[in-house]
Amino acid sequence: MTAPTHTPVLGIDFGTTNTSAAWFDAAGKLRVVPVTDKSFVLPSVVWFPAADKSMVGHGARTQIIDDPKHTVFGSKRFLGRRFQSEFVAKHKDRFAFDVVAGADGYCAVLIYGQLISLTHVAQLVIADIVARANRAARVHFKEAVLTVPAHSTVRQREAVRRAAEAAGLSVLALVNEPTAAALYYANLKSPQEKILIFDLGGGTFDATLMQVQKGVARVLATGGDAFLGGANFDERVVEHFVETFERQQGLNLRTNRTVMQRLAFAAENTKTALSKADAAPLRVPVVAQKDDGQFVDFNYTLTRPALEALVEPLVERCVGACEDVLAHAKVKADQVDELVLVGGMTRMPVIRKRLTGFKKVSGEKEVHPELGVCIGAALLGRDLKRPGGARLKDVVPMPISVMLPGGRTYEVIEANAPVPLTRAVTLEALPLWDAPVPVLVFESVDRTSTDREPIGTLHIGPEWRMGKVVAPQLVLEMDTSFQLKARLVAPGGMNTSLQLVDARGG
Ligand code: AMP
Repeated sequence: MTAPTHTPVLGIDFGTTNTSAAWFDAAGKLRVVPVTDKSFVLPSVVWFPAADKSMVGHGARTQIIDDPKHTVFGSKRFLGRRFQSEFVAKHKDRFAFDVVAGADGYCAVLIYGQLISLTHVAQLVIADIVARANRAARVHFKEAVLTVPAHSTVRQREAVRRAAEAAGLSVLALVNEPTAAALYYANLKSPQEKILIFDLGGGTFDATLMQVQKGVARVLATGGDAFLGGANFDERVVEHFVETFERQQGLNLRTNRTVMQRLAFAAENTKTALSKADAAPLRVPVVAQKDDGQFVDFNYTLTRPALEALVEPLVERCVGACEDVLAHAKVKADQVDELVLVGGMTRMPVIRKRLTGFKKVSGEKEVHPELGVCIGAALLGRDLKRPGGARLKDVVPMPISVMLPGGRTYEVIEANAPVPLTRAVTLEALPLWDAPVPVLVFESVDRTSTDREPIGTLHIGPEWRMGKVVAPQLVLEMDTSFQLKARLVAPGGMNTSLQLVDARGG
């Protein structure tokens, strides 16, 4: 029986590929939400048998093959992204379902001619795991902690929060996936150590260096690659299939999106099988038709060494990102007490094999690659409800800057700054216009380039440049859910909050 005073918080790992959730029951016992008899993970797949009907999870996943145009999977990669962006242009055609621009300029899907926002798709997945959790716990979960890839932008985080709210939850915190994994790990072992969390999931790669001391986890540095995940490994395999088929049959499969999606499905199954087996035969029936009308199947056997050769550049990118994180924190690989592997992709043997130079690499048996993140979220949820709150410091992954008309730029929030935070800059060169001055707020997606992700625009009214006020202070605040607020403060005491207007359509 649940004690009436116990209000559990659901920890949810809403992943690109899979979603899982966990909570602490009234007796303080950790519980993971069961999805099937054998599984604790819910595929983040939504099948629409009609525009107003949907099914989530394992049943939906089989529809990737049977009804590819109406089965939305891996869509978290597009959630909270503007349609007009290089990333979307590059990736959208790989899916048989139609990724289009929503009314707000963000990515949506077109199903039976109807525009469905990706926030709604995310909401369906989250609502499904919550319903399962409600049944398993026999309570009605109202509060949750959700995880996001460490490299998510402010807008991507906002989209996840809005989806959870639409699913009826109040979001106590959003936490970076590797931070959640570190929390799980810290509670598993109570170490006093430096650990590097290597989190390679379906859509993103995060590397996070943490200091764990007396159960308190502190992020020292975080990095990674927002565009590197299991799907990229699958793509390499698909490319290999397509080239092989072209060589054997002289037929090009690239233009048929449905076939490409079926190949991607086969590639993922093959990749997963090769984590245990040395060779994996596959057959994808009827992938093409010859001039004489004859249908052709794709039959092939991929070996583990061949797979490892195909994905080597991707593995190297992961290693490079780890090196960057260590360099940022001025820590050497041999000073890291343990490398903790999380994310489904770390089951691939070549990953473990490549990570040499570390004293210890966590084993699959001690650290659960798929459930560690949701357990970490549940731990944080439990701690937030305790007196004294959570013993956790999460950080902002990317620097946040503002730009005045004319191009003058100020970095306001530095990368790896712990949240919650307040930062201020003095805006020295505000133009003396009569109209409001637009100030662009953006994140630097990639620290090494000028790749910018606009968060929105602040408008500074002409009143700020009248009288003596010429150089007001812009104050940015970010809470533990990574919500950003802006204020303008003048030495004379003027203090106004500014609305951050979304820069629509990129
Ligand atoms: P996650 O986002 O942590 O659920 O990870 C999902 C990714 O892990 C997907 O790309 C899966 O194909 C991949 N994955 C899951 N299990 C395995 C496995 N046994 N071997 C290789 N990759 C796997």
